[in-house]
Amino acid sequence: MSDIFYDIETKELLDQNATDPDAAIRTLHMSVGATWCECHGEQFFHNTGELAEHLLLHERIIGFSIKHFDNAVLAWSPERPVRESFDPITGKHKIEKPLPDAPEDLKKMLDARCFDLLADLEARLGHRVSLAALAEGSLGKQKMASGPQAVVWNRLAATLRDRWPYALTDVGDQEGAQRVNELGRWFQERLEQYCMADALLVKKLFEYGIANKRVAYIDFEGERRVVKVQWR
Ligand SMILES: [Zn+2]
Repeated sequence: MSDIFYDIETKELLDQNATDPDAAIRTLHMSVGATWCECHGEQFFHNTGELAEHLLLHERIIGFSIKHFDNAVLAWSPERPVRESFDPITGKHKIEKPLPDAPEDLKKMLDARCFDLLADLEARLGHRVSLAALAEGSLGKQKMASGPQAVVWNRLAATLRDRWPYALTDVGDQEGAQRVNELGRWFQERLEQYCMADALLVKKLFEYGIANKRVAYIDFEGERRVVKVQWR
């Protein structure tokens, strides 16, 4: 069985007061996606179509809140891989689109083979639990960063990379242009490392759940609580 673990970060933060949260999620844009699988190792994606296609090469897609969140962001993004090929026998150009255009159809394809740790835990507990609380309770680990930090890092990386080097070069400051470029790359790397760290955190939590047949989380009162799981 080939499993792939994944997580994405978005360019905007989800509005917690949105009247229709599902609709709000569909308007978010991915900044970076990180995957880990035994067959391909660690991979980063900046295009949702390429990420969805890569995920669907695997039998099972594992993540945290991916059914509700990540899969929806991918499906409602209009990006789809397109391949053009030339058939020398018929003399015709062929256009191949491996993923469906309709968001609902792509969402179904992703959901059909996904295992969502949050959805599973929510069904057992009757309430949601955060990845940070599970990481601390089960693995004794802190999350490296937070969603809001990732949003700001992405904005900084984009602005520093796309705007300021040109402005500085225009006014003859080559060294300044190089420095902001480097700083932009540094924020980009931090963002990507965080995204990968979360994908790998889900992997560790999943493996912990299989080995121990339970996971633990820290509740809002600071108590460690244990929940039995049947993951495999
Ligand atoms: Zn793979």
